[in-house]
Amino acid sequence: MGKVIEETKITKQIMIVESNTGEILQKVCKDCGHLKLAEEFPKNGERLRPYCKDCWRERQRAYYEGIKLKRSVYRHRARAKEVGLADTLTEEQLKELLAHANGRCMLTGEPATESDPLTIDHVTALGNRFSLGNAPCNIILAKRSLNFSRKEGCLLKFIGKYPEKVNPEKTEETISYLSKQAGVEKADFIRLLEDIEEFSKKEGELNEEK
Ligand SMILES: [Zn+2]
Repeated sequence: MGKVIEETKITKQIMIVESNTGEILQKVCKDCGHLKLAEEFPKNGERLRPYCKDCWRERQRAYYEGIKLKRSVYRHRARAKEVGLADTLTEEQLKELLAHANGRCMLTGEPATESDPLTIDHVTALGNRFSLGNAPCNIILAKRSLNFSRKEGCLLKFIGKYPEKVNPEKTEETISYLSKQAGVEKADFIRLLEDIEEFSKKEGELNEEK
């Protein structure tokens, strides 16, 4: 009875195999990198999963955390629908936004110029599956040079990364305005934005693992 070292086909994990029967005796876990006994890996049908039981448990936990966030995002969005937010911005709402901005950037407070005009930007980028879309609580007018949604995908992330590029009072005022548009408290609105970011990040991570 001999033992040979082999690699799993797709994930290239090292394993120790019984040479006559082909039975896997030990395997290196894809997550923690430890060489463990076959029985320490959960099974997927007849095959061993790439992750040991400890790591698998951790992955399941992270996955359910993600689901919880997803539910929270949908709940907020349902709430937004309840209070009558449309999925698309109407002309009336755009007029209101223009009147509110009054020719000034809603993040810096600076007046628009010919070379740096105000443009519509999305608080959570439309590319994000959990984005608030074209609802009025997701749209602001900001100087074109900031272009935060393309750079960072989310207003909160942009502010966190480049605090020197915005005016704190103006930004606070804008977030209050957006919360009002969403029909929720400011703290709830900020939590919603954080949830959207967090979940899209977690979903990205889960997809990368596949
Ligand atoms: Zn492991």
